Amino acid sequence: MISQSEMHPQRWGDPDAATPLPDSARGLVELAFGLSDCPAVAGATPPTGETPVAALAALVDVLGADNVLTDDTTRMLRTRGKSTLDLLKARAGDLSDAPDVVVRPSGQAEIEALLAVAATHRLAVVPFGGGTSVTGGLVADRARFAGVVSLDLVRMKSLLAVDTESMTATLEPGLRGPEAEALLAEHGLTLGHYPQSFEYATIGGYAATRSSGQSSAGYGRFDSLVMGLTVVTPSGTLTVGSAPASAAGPDLRQVFLGSEGAFGVITAVTVRVRRLPAEKLYLGWRWPSFEAGADAMRALAQARMLPEVIRLSDEAETAINLADPSSIGSADDPGCLMITGFEGTPPAVVAKRAAVTSVLTELGGTDLGEQPGEAWAHGRFNAPYLRDAMLDVGVLVETLETATFWSHRSGLYADVKTALEASLGKKAIVLCHISHVYETGCSLYFTIAVREARDPLVQWAAAKAAASEAMITAGATITHHHAVGTDHKPWFEREIGPVGVQTLRAIKDSLDPSGILNPGVLI
Ligand SMILES: Cc1cc2nc3c(=O)[nH]c(=O)nc-3n(C[C@H](O)[C@H](O)[C@H](O)COP(=O)(O)OP(=O)(O)OC[C@H]3O[C@@H](n4cnc5c(N)ncnc54)[C@H](O)[C@@H]3O)c2cc1C
Repeated sequence: MISQSEMHPQRWGDPDAATPLPDSARGLVELAFGLSDCPAVAGATPPTGETPVAALAALVDVLGADNVLTDDTTRMLRTRGKSTLDLLKARAGDLSDAPDVVVRPSGQAEIEALLAVAATHRLAVVPFGGGTSVTGGLVADRARFAGVVSLDLVRMKSLLAVDTESMTATLEPGLRGPEAEALLAEHGLTLGHYPQSFEYATIGGYAATRSSGQSSAGYGRFDSLVMGLTVVTPSGTLTVGSAPASAAGPDLRQVFLGSEGAFGVITAVTVRVRRLPAEKLYLGWRWPSFEAGADAMRALAQARMLPEVIRLSDEAETAINLADPSSIGSADDPGCLMITGFEGTPPAVVAKRAAVTSVLTELGGTDLGEQPGEAWAHGRFNAPYLRDAMLDVGVLVETLETATFWSHRSGLYADVKTALEASLGKKAIVLCHISHVYETGCSLYFTIAVREARDPLVQWAAAKAAASEAMITAGATITHHHAVGTDHKPWFEREIGPVGVQTLRAIKDSLDPSGILNPGVLI
């Protein structure tokens, strides 16, 4: 049985929250793409698990029988992540990547012991947090192994320590976003990390993928919040990060941030925290063009005046997704919507709002007030549910993201958009927003919608390859926050070059000499 807290195996999120396409969007979708009925295959079961009996017995010795699970439902729910391709495969009944066994350790000592068992019995081990990977980070290459173990961190959900003087907290990796925030709120604290996958993604997953949340302008990317980590590797356990800053050699935290389970299992994360904001205020701004809005973002970032949230939709995204057609983004009044969000004490919010308003007005923005901002804040976690409703009627919806320096932003935007449109055809809709900004540059987040071809997996693979090629050719990164997984590997290797690959390979060989951790992911 699916427990209340498990995600739907073929869709995003809470099984009870699955909804058909809303009437308000149905007409538009029909006009743009036509509608067809695409039901998912019901009742598919994963292939029979292959773990050798002796290996299973050794895992049971370490974890107890209750925490070594081989039933079909548990294995199905730990199969792949939640990219659109993952969902399409699940909908088609393809569970070929299911793990053979799911283990649920309670802490560091059990993880150390189970990694030793895995090395002895040649089992591949895939750390599993929230299962929200969108880059194939949960699909291990099983070729050289006797079985695949999903190492589910679901029993590791404690707040281990709080230091309100230093403003740090140490969290276990299995805490989902809302669970971590609830524990911190008991101390009047917040992490302020709100990726769109917030409801399900975990602390360990955030660290392992270098996630970035919607309030990154104010609170920072997740990797910038991490003060320390404890990591269990097959070669031993280490804790890194013992001071707010250090000159003691290279920063080993950076070896494990973004390591995607390939170097070790993250068992504790010490993060920088803030006081819970007494006030949150979200506002909309209108810009005559994407260029003008982007220039304004750059001006704020370089003046070090960023609000906690700042994002800017291009003309197409503004028109389709966000705006009231009567006021902004309509054919008569094209423009771009920016959302700004202020969080903090009431005087701090008032002061920052005034300062930001002054800069944005000076640069040609129009203050649209709270309505568009509050509408964005209210619906900020809804888009993944809409993706499922679109897949139900045969419309492929997927996203990809990248980042570059300001001076390359408009070229990269044009190159990726052109690559996607050329691959997906004239009828595809390609939308973009600037999702995260820095003094030196920003990330671009693209969403596409297109009528599914006969084989949507092939259709999207071609488009994604074209977009990835455009990113690497333009000198941008293959991912700003989704991580490498298996999907981005060929372009990641080009991004970091042969010596970069050799360096990561040497680290992997040292920490994981038998190569049991997430084989095929990252490098
Ligand atoms: C609808 C949707 C919206 C999203 N929005 C955002 C967004 O706004 N920002 C963003 O950054 N990302 C986003 N993502 C991507 C994803 O949510 C992030 O990568 C997230 O950080 C993954 O966390 P998780 O707990 O689900 O990890 P999982 O998916 O379980 O794992 C991800 C990778 O990390 C490894 N891993 C997990 N836990 C550990 C651990 N404790 N130790 C070592 N390795 C581990 C896994 O083996 C895997 O390789 C989104 C995904 C979806 C489906």
